[in-house]
Amino acid sequence: MSLKRVITIDGPAGAGKSTVARRVASALGYLYVDTGAMYRAMTLKVLMHGVDPADRERVAQLARETDIALTTGPDGAPQVVLDGVDVTHRLREPGIDRAVSTVAAFPEVRERLLVVQRELARRGGVVLEGRDTGTHVAPDADLKLYLTASPAERARRRYRELVAAGHQVTLEQVERELRRRDEQDMTRSAAPLQRAPDAIEVDTTGRSIDAVVAEILRYCREDD
Ligand code: C5P
Repeated sequence: MSLKRVITIDGPAGAGKSTVARRVASALGYLYVDTGAMYRAMTLKVLMHGVDPADRERVAQLARETDIALTTGPDGAPQVVLDGVDVTHRLREPGIDRAVSTVAAFPEVRERLLVVQRELARRGGVVLEGRDTGTHVAPDADLKLYLTASPAERARRRYRELVAAGHQVTLEQVERELRRRDEQDMTRSAAPLQRAPDAIEVDTTGRSIDAVVAEILRYCREDD
């Protein structure tokens, strides 16, 4: 039996990718690489500098001056370090949700982060999670998954997450926001969200995290 050394998990917002990817990585003793968190950190920097997220020139300039790293904190949880500062706790704010797809669409931003992501993939023993990890970051990955869920379920999950974090939002606002973000991620010209032709599609609608993780771990352990 051989284990897959590079696993990619892509899909739209709220499909359950982060939770599942983290659990799969932990079960295998692999590094969990949350590529979305890197785009969120870049967006945080854009907002902190008062730059319009749609201003390609200024965003590209900022990207050149930005250092984003993924590390593991003292408690073993993944950390995102922006220019030397741990910003993990700030990345899920609604302001970042609104701007991130605009920032992530710029090729200059993607090229900058791609270098870091490919370096992590090259070492092996990783679960990469995002929108383009199976299509662009690691097209030669050993196992590719594409997670989906119904739009209503994806919005409910994200809504619960935001409310638990103390944000005042309505389910309708969250649904609208997710639709807009998916549309932007799927239609941009640089590395759009697409299912890689060799990715296994896993629909998580109505399924427990345990069941989805168990299914993926079966694929991970399958003989070549
Ligand atoms: O996965 P998460 O919701 O944190 O991703 C936030 C945003 O980052 C996505 O909506 C997308 O615009 C961008 N992203 C991307 N490519 C990736 C991962 C995330 O463009 N590989």
